[in-house]
Amino acid sequence: MVDITLGIIGGGQLGSMLAIAAKKLNIKTVIFCDDLDAPAQNFCNKFISGKYDDKNKISEFTNLADVVTYEFENIPYETLNEINKLKPVLPKPSVNRLIQHRLAEKDFINKLNIRTTRYVSIEKKSDIDALEDFLPGILKTTTLGYDGKGQHPISSREDLNSINLDFSRGYILEKLVKLKKEISIIITRFSNNKYEIYEPIENTHEDQILKNSKIPADINEKIFDQSKEWAMLIAEELKYTGTLCVEFFIDRNDNLYVNEIAPRVHNSGHLTINAFNVSQFENHVRAVCGLEQIPLKKISNAKMINLLGDQISHYRNSTSLKDNEFFFDYLKKEIKEKRKMGHITILV
Ligand code: ADP
Ligand code: MG
Repeated sequence: MVDITLGIIGGGQLGSMLAIAAKKLNIKTVIFCDDLDAPAQNFCNKFISGKYDDKNKISEFTNLADVVTYEFENIPYETLNEINKLKPVLPKPSVNRLIQHRLAEKDFINKLNIRTTRYVSIEKKSDIDALEDFLPGILKTTTLGYDGKGQHPISSREDLNSINLDFSRGYILEKLVKLKKEISIIITRFSNNKYEIYEPIENTHEDQILKNSKIPADINEKIFDQSKEWAMLIAEELKYTGTLCVEFFIDRNDNLYVNEIAPRVHNSGHLTINAFNVSQFENHVRAVCGLEQIPLKKISNAKMINLLGDQISHYRNSTSLKDNEFFFDYLKKEIKEKRKMGHITILV
């Protein structure tokens, strides 16, 4: 029997689902989170709350863990690097540093000859002058964005001037892709050329927030193959350990672009809990804890619906779920507009 304690930084829904997957494998979990109300404390063996740069708390956490992973990108690099001197942090801190910066991330992807949207860095007011080529576009902060936070659609230079940009932060302006569809690939890399890769998942966003995911994705064979190849290339190039998600755009001419990489389990992969023999969470725990790799088998087609804000209330009070419907409540204390509160997966 294994005796491993997995440390997880971050205590949201992804941390919860990682802890649930770990428990199934007899792996203990200790979760470190800056939110006292973090939902994942309901599912882990030990919960420690503290700021992500609190040296004492981090040291307490590190001592308890045999291996450390994380459920979100925006953790100070220094914190991951310090922990990594004592206990392995997987995926490696350098991977997280690269991906948490939108410009570094896109430069990395382009170097692999993988298509991304066209983009330009904006660091100072005068950078705004020669941008016609990138309009209409979306302006994003280079760091700390998620669920569309820190993003502004821009159709003219006047739009840019009317936003109060804080140049103590960096920005990226991306050309808007005329989207036909969005898909994602979830891949778990165990070691050199050893992967489990899920089929492409088709995603629908509303106000830049993921709303629905489904398999199979309605895409042609070329995109099916290319998206998987690109995800494998990215994971291999990063020498990645664990589960990674690559988000893609498909434009109206069926061109494929990588939108972004998430160095972690991903919302679009929630349907893997019910639709496959091994979920993205279990695969992540298996990979970072050095457990056996199990060949992936699909059980069913599926559809996942995110419950945002008070959409959760109806399901919290409902007892009428069908046999093929699975409801997850993230147990977040406060209902906030557009906040991801739970999801439903329907096997179809
Ligand atoms: P986040 O880090 O918030 O997930 P993304 O860059 O993935 O940020 O953007 C969120 C969503 O906004 C995308 O999934 C897509 O629907 C839309 N979006 C972002 N950038 C572009 C773009 N350049 N062209 C078209 N749609 C975009
Ligand atoms: Mg995204």
